[in-house]
Amino acid sequence: MRLTEALRAGPQWHGDLLHDLVARLYPLPRSITGDAVRETLRIIAEHVPVTTTEVPSGTPVLDWTVPKEWNLRDAYIARDGERIVDLHASNLHVVGYSVPVDARLARDELLPHLHSLPDQPDVVPYRTSYWQERWGFCVPHRLVESLPDGFYDVRIDATLADGALTYGEVTLPGEVDDVVLVSTHTCHPSLANDNCSGLAVATALAATLAGVERRYTYRFVFAPGTIGSIVWLARNEDVAARVRHGLVLSNLGDGGAFTYKRSRRGNAGIDRAAAHVLSGYEGSTVVDFSPYGYDERQYCSPGFDLPVGSLSRTPWGRYAQYHTSADDLSFVEPKQLEGSLLTALEIVDVVERDATYVNLSPKGEPQLGRRGLYSSLGGDPHAREREIALLWVLNQSDGARSLLDIAERSRLPFATVADAAEALLAAGLLAPCDARS
Ligand code: ZN
Repeated sequence: MRLTEALRAGPQWHGDLLHDLVARLYPLPRSITGDAVRETLRIIAEHVPVTTTEVPSGTPVLDWTVPKEWNLRDAYIARDGERIVDLHASNLHVVGYSVPVDARLARDELLPHLHSLPDQPDVVPYRTSYWQERWGFCVPHRLVESLPDGFYDVRIDATLADGALTYGEVTLPGEVDDVVLVSTHTCHPSLANDNCSGLAVATALAATLAGVERRYTYRFVFAPGTIGSIVWLARNEDVAARVRHGLVLSNLGDGGAFTYKRSRRGNAGIDRAAAHVLSGYEGSTVVDFSPYGYDERQYCSPGFDLPVGSLSRTPWGRYAQYHTSADDLSFVEPKQLEGSLLTALEIVDVVERDATYVNLSPKGEPQLGRRGLYSSLGGDPHAREREIALLWVLNQSDGARSLLDIAERSRLPFATVADAAEALLAAGLLAPCDARS
């Protein structure tokens, strides 16, 4: 089956299924390395064939070095033998990559190790310290304010030692070796929108594409943010050279409209395909590239300059729940996850189907009625749109303009234009050109 038909048949991955996957991934205490990343990849591998790579600590990668591996077993702050902060209540409580600690501290010694948000006193913030060895706890500001003088037992039972960085890949071969790259980060612990939504949508996207005919080869990268994509790029320069389109997925389950961030190139095929698809969704925004955000920073670094954009709903940092315990399972909505999957599939369908044709009967309009291409009945608005699309494709197909060019210029949906091209091809009025966008 083709993706176009699969899309018309409706999603195999309904919102509830996507939300179930988010809910399974949510409790794992992920970081940039460690067993929770491996467990995350094992869960994803229940749906798609994931190849896992382990890169040893200390391995040089581009300008970086693979860090030590961190695993967290238990952590608490206790007073009089009672846990007042407990890892098992929220894995956001421990600053990511904290070194182990086991000490009794006075309140004033403890306070510099506590992170809280005075503006949002009831939530637990998310903090990490990957590149500087320290320890800390993240707690609601109300708790900080209520701590009485006295002594506190503090324990972080963690291992920070030589090990490996783990990333996963799903490769779906296509007719050509040219690659569509889809990348999402795997390094956030219990944050539903900023991480689990991207993981779930990427998994469902891979599972859907695995079941359809593909022109492109698809490479899905599930890797920790920044260091993971740097590791992947360092090990896959040959694949990177074949990337024709790419998407970084994140923040895809909140109630907001879509935001697409263009690649560094600004006018790559994926940028135009995403902008065209999003033009059909009210409230959507397309923004220019900037060298911060997620792993598009690495894919779009000047030495690679890959045509990789970023699809999200509300962008990172623009919602109050971002990087706090309020980014929980209730913040992520099944219908939003499903809409995100469908939109990503629509964008993929555009890059899959975009092609350039030449009109074989370019002198005057060819007679479409004689070839059964003109509906003889009036009044059907869809028939009217189809006919207009036929005329646009015939007029613009001079071997230089692609179907996406025609969709942009005619303001018709890409699928309508591509369907018209298929009908004209079948009628012998068009021929494909070799040039692909
Ligand atoms: Zn984040």
